[in-house]
Amino acid sequence: MRRRRVIANWKMNGDKTIVDHLLGALKNNCKNITSELIVCPPAVYLAQAQGLLVGTTIGLGAQNVNANRSGAYTGEISVSMLQEFGCGHVLVGHSERRSLFAETDQDVAEKFKAVVNAGLRPVLCVGESEHERNIGSTDEVVLRQLDAVVNTAGIESFSQAIVAYEPVWAIGTGNTATPEQAQEVHRLLRKHIELLSMEIATQLPILYGGSVNPENAASLFAMSDIDGGLVGGASLDSQAFTAICNAAG
Ligand code: PEP
Repeated sequence: MRRRRVIANWKMNGDKTIVDHLLGALKNNCKNITSELIVCPPAVYLAQAQGLLVGTTIGLGAQNVNANRSGAYTGEISVSMLQEFGCGHVLVGHSERRSLFAETDQDVAEKFKAVVNAGLRPVLCVGESEHERNIGSTDEVVLRQLDAVVNTAGIESFSQAIVAYEPVWAIGTGNTATPEQAQEVHRLLRKHIELLSMEIATQLPILYGGSVNPENAASLFAMSDIDGGLVGGASLDSQAFTAICNAAG
């Protein structure tokens, strides 16, 4: 039985006051949630979030990382720096990183490998654009993105990973995938991993992301291969996010 997870991706939003408010509300409202909750604030607020989350079971994650250990990479942040601030999870391959910052499948794979090697959990985001879905390329795109990581980091590294199916056309648009559409891709991803390791496929958490909200969360999380959600916009609204966490149980 896979444990449900809900991950908040705040993207480049918030300020110190908002961080206090959102984490205060989360600590208050989600005491009885049995799902695993993880919050990914902007990197400059990790220290503040780490302090606020002491004594809770809420995990801390980063939105991005550089694959190199250290060195002349101005503006970048290494895995060991994230570790110092209590990050247990790191998003890799978010579609905004792929499309706005030109991250390739191979860049994503190198980041994933660096995160795993440091003992943290990568959250690998995969997903097709609207055009790719319309021309029938969804399966090919998500499997290409997945295989790039499997080929670089090895299938065993997935015993420590989370995958998030995030159709690009659903992110921040309000056009959520139907539970059936999402389930179909989640099943495909799990079946693909099954070919390499049944054990890893069975325990691999596969989250859905793309306009998850309090109205659609329960029906998405009810699907057999959907193990929770990666939530962007709605995670910035404490009431909406609490409702989504409650839907996860
Ligand atoms: C995301 O950024 O990962 C995301 C799923 O955003 P939203 O929930 O706003 O669609």
